[in-house]
Amino acid sequence: MLPLSIEEIRRDYPILSRTFYGKPLVYFDNTATSQTPRQVVEAVERMYFRHKANVHRGVFSISQEATGLMEAAREDVRRYINARSTAEVIFTRGTTEAINLVAASYGGEFLGDGDRIILTVMEHHANIVPWQLLQRRKDIHIDVVPMLPDGSLDMEAYRRLFTDRTRMVAFCHVSNVLGTVNPVREMVEVAHSHGVPVLVDGAQAAPHMAIDVQALDVDFYAFSSHKMYGPAGVGVLYGRESLLEKMPPYQGGGEMIANVSFEKTTFAPPPLKFEAGTPDFVDIAAFAEALKYIGRLGVENIAAHEHALLEWTTAEMMKIPGMRIFGMAPGKCAVISFLMGNAHHYDTGMLLDKLGIAVRTGHHCAEPLMHSLGIEGTVRASFAVYNTLSECETFISALHRIRPMLD
Ligand code: PMP
Repeated sequence: MLPLSIEEIRRDYPILSRTFYGKPLVYFDNTATSQTPRQVVEAVERMYFRHKANVHRGVFSISQEATGLMEAAREDVRRYINARSTAEVIFTRGTTEAINLVAASYGGEFLGDGDRIILTVMEHHANIVPWQLLQRRKDIHIDVVPMLPDGSLDMEAYRRLFTDRTRMVAFCHVSNVLGTVNPVREMVEVAHSHGVPVLVDGAQAAPHMAIDVQALDVDFYAFSSHKMYGPAGVGVLYGRESLLEKMPPYQGGGEMIANVSFEKTTFAPPPLKFEAGTPDFVDIAAFAEALKYIGRLGVENIAAHEHALLEWTTAEMMKIPGMRIFGMAPGKCAVISFLMGNAHHYDTGMLLDKLGIAVRTGHHCAEPLMHSLGIEGTVRASFAVYNTLSECETFISALHRIRPMLD
């Protein structure tokens, strides 16, 4: 049970009381980005109005305050994901940058011609393209885990893909299209039994479930603040310290060095080695407020609330003739990708928008998944803690209303 009523929760999101075409906004694009509560915006304001000074540099008090707030945020993230030490928590611009960092730094250093990496068919482009960029530097082969009809991964096929040249496994914890929750622990065990490290794209998991990087035994874990009620422009790469120590820097500049001369530069230890330049310390500090916000509501309570909306809405959608839902794996997250009859996803999305309902349409940055499903795109509705059953009812009646227009 959430400790507050949904009405109380919604009061902290002024954006939710906007109207479009005379209808109250129903915001169902939470998978792309969640809305941000007043508490987090106030933390941004506090940083600008009280604590703005460059971090890790000044001896003066405000600089030390700003540094203290940024480093406190690092400790909050460490606790949220149960990392062993703050050395393992690298701030990035988001999941995308975190994965690029690993592909460029770890991949650039430890993968060579003829090596293979394993991805899955349900990856977001953020976990495909960085590896393809690496392929421009090295002759690396990408093996792809297929999925079963319900949208879960084919684990037998996964096991069979390992060869003695497999050097990295990278996959999403939760699919942003299907909502499938992948069996991270089991997949890590298989990879580690072959001596292969694992990167998990946690962009869609971190907002909805407790993450324990030690229990999952992952080597890298990436996620984004803006999908977790936090500000945009901040993300996290968790990395196992023993690997981070061996990896070369991703970018060069200030803050990431020990000493610099024109003859030789030495680097700071992790995490600073991977944080060249002035970090987004304002939003990093505000992200800590978002984590506190999630903690106060309880991530399990948030998930249970979203799940109740998912179950009710899915059952109602299945009563609509011609409805196709993509992704029905047991225990899936609160994401519903669908198509109605032969209607184009874009038309469905446009008509829903006219009724005040914001859903995503398109390939959701997962074109290979769309190809494997034999479709161009879907309509996607996804839930967050501030969504209500009454919004789901509005959504269902909107689908009934627009269906004849799409025939
Ligand atoms: N991976 C997944 C599964 C995602 O859903 C997203 C965001 N849509 C990303 C990666 C990329 O996240 P960001 O744009 O915040 O870097």
